[in-house]
Amino acid sequence: MACPVRLTDLAPFMPLSRALFLDRDGNLIEDHHHTSKIEQITLIAEVKPALEACLMAGYKLFILTNQSGLNRGIFTWEQYHACNQRMLELLDLPAPGILEIKAAPERPDEPSLYRKPSPRFILEMITLHDIDPQHSWMVGDRRTDWDAGRNAGIHSCAVQSGAAVEADFDYARSMNYVVRKNFPEFVRVDLGLHWS
Ligand SMILES: [Mg+2]
Repeated sequence: MACPVRLTDLAPFMPLSRALFLDRDGNLIEDHHHTSKIEQITLIAEVKPALEACLMAGYKLFILTNQSGLNRGIFTWEQYHACNQRMLELLDLPAPGILEIKAAPERPDEPSLYRKPSPRFILEMITLHDIDPQHSWMVGDRRTDWDAGRNAGIHSCAVQSGAAVEADFDYARSMNYVVRKNFPEFVRVDLGLHWS
């Protein structure tokens, strides 16, 4: 009798993808503290070619951003989406680009669903996109970014292009997180990718 092959039987043999989970403010764009106006959207230098190099190398790209300004009433979802749209226009990445942008609107005092350091979004994407945690990273400028990576079982990189201060980087080093000047330096040094 024929024995049908189930997709789940093949799963161990399917290659896993590498992924980058990226903080937005202070990592990809300049941090303006509750950024809410499209005029504020400025790419950090060399972020665009760095992301293009990651796509060429096969990394799946996701953005995970804490945006408590939404639940604080500082800005609206409409403003938030307009800022993302402006960022994507400036990046103008080739397909598949950024696969998903997830905002956590919770204030720090509210029960957290996706707010970093929650690993929830990362864990969902690992399952949904067949991602290899051992070759995936969370990159951002705050402790909550780095701890989200740790909580999800992926690597963490702390970048010095945003809001964190030296005490935060002391913490990062104590946790054995990689510390880099900015995202493009991380891509060059830790991923070994280059561009002209
Ligand atoms: Mg940030």
